[in-house]
Amino acid sequence: MGGRTAVAGDDIPPMKTLSRDAAAALDAADPLAALRARFLLPDGVRYFAGNSLGAPPRTVAARLREVVEQEWGGGLVRAWHDWIELPSRVAARLAPLLGVEAGEVMVADSTTVDLFKLLGALLAARPQRRRLVAVEGCFPTDLYVAQGLVEPIGGELLERPLSGLAEVLPGSAALLVSHVGFRHGELHDLRALAALAREHGALLVADLSHSVGTMPLALADWGVELAVGCTYKFLGGGPGSPAFLVVARRRQEELQPPLRGWMGHADPFAFETSWRPAPGVERFACGTPSILALAALDAALAATADVDLALARRKVEGLGELLMSLVDDRLGGTVEVASPRLAAQRGAQVSLRHPEALALTQALLAAGVVGDHRPPDLLRLGLPPLTLRYADVWDAVALLGDLLHSGEHRRPPFATRRRIT
Ligand SMILES: *Cc1c(COP(=O)(O)O)cnc(C)c1O
Repeated sequence: MGGRTAVAGDDIPPMKTLSRDAAAALDAADPLAALRARFLLPDGVRYFAGNSLGAPPRTVAARLREVVEQEWGGGLVRAWHDWIELPSRVAARLAPLLGVEAGEVMVADSTTVDLFKLLGALLAARPQRRRLVAVEGCFPTDLYVAQGLVEPIGGELLERPLSGLAEVLPGSAALLVSHVGFRHGELHDLRALAALAREHGALLVADLSHSVGTMPLALADWGVELAVGCTYKFLGGGPGSPAFLVVARRRQEELQPPLRGWMGHADPFAFETSWRPAPGVERFACGTPSILALAALDAALAATADVDLALARRKVEGLGELLMSLVDDRLGGTVEVASPRLAAQRGAQVSLRHPEALALTQALLAAGVVGDHRPPDLLRLGLPPLTLRYADVWDAVALLGDLLHSGEHRRPPFATRRRIT
């Protein structure tokens, strides 16, 4: 953690690049600016942590009330006739965001569980291949799942940087990647990785948790046949909302989930004693879907269904460029940009490196700038394009400069790590 610690009294120069008025002018010209009003956000909060938990669209609460009072309360068990279709209705909403057909998406469970199903199915379909390869920077839960699958079969999980993949892919069942790295926000080229995996007889499994909803995705066009992702980050589905799993049509018959349940059975209400897979991606469903969570997700997706994701991506790039230029200008030398500088290599976040990142994150939080901390030394600022303003970025950097100048973040309450960072 080379001695970059700013001391109180550091001479921090005034910003050269852009005034706050100029940042506010970017908001005035932003074609997505009006979308912010569709979300519940407390006054005075600058919300960067949309890559951790998206803000709720305003329509979600009314939809939940309707489900509880009218459907559950009024329909009781009869409401299942309609609810049973809800997972596939939500899948159909997700499909265009992913660039696949509706019949290639299944919505249920968590990303962790869905990844277990996919990787387990792949290993079972290729018993002679017991190795999984992960591109360095995967979210840890993905690695844990992979470890849990290979251990009992005497296989192995290897983590490699991009440059080391070709060497270990021969004989591997799958190549696992987080499309956008959760720490540094690096954006991977899924088309190239899918081709590389196939060349060696493996299949790419992409985790889209940090990219879906921030940019157009074209999985079918990119040749990405298998994917998972969560819906509570940029999609605003609500805390713990159901995850999605993608299996390209041409892989559906060959893959059978290791975690089987009656909802993935060809005929659940025949109550047969042996599992028979549902014909398509639905075989990856397990147990009874959480209807309240699905209803919230359905409403959240409906609230933003008209958003042009190409515009969202352009705004993500604009927010990132502004953030980095302000940091360079005002905090350069004390705070380091830890994310790729090139927009084409960066997802919807900019991570900043500072030895006191934990205390800075918590002092920012106390002042209404909500980002998060990733150990050991990162302040992570997500760039949710539908709710974040250019002026929020300006304010966050100004506040960070003030903190580094005053040393306020060194006061005791900010230095202690809490259970959730
Ligand atoms: C957030 C995230 C998850 C979360 O998984 P859960 O099962 O929902 O807890 C998984 N993978 C990646 C890449 C993530 O960013």
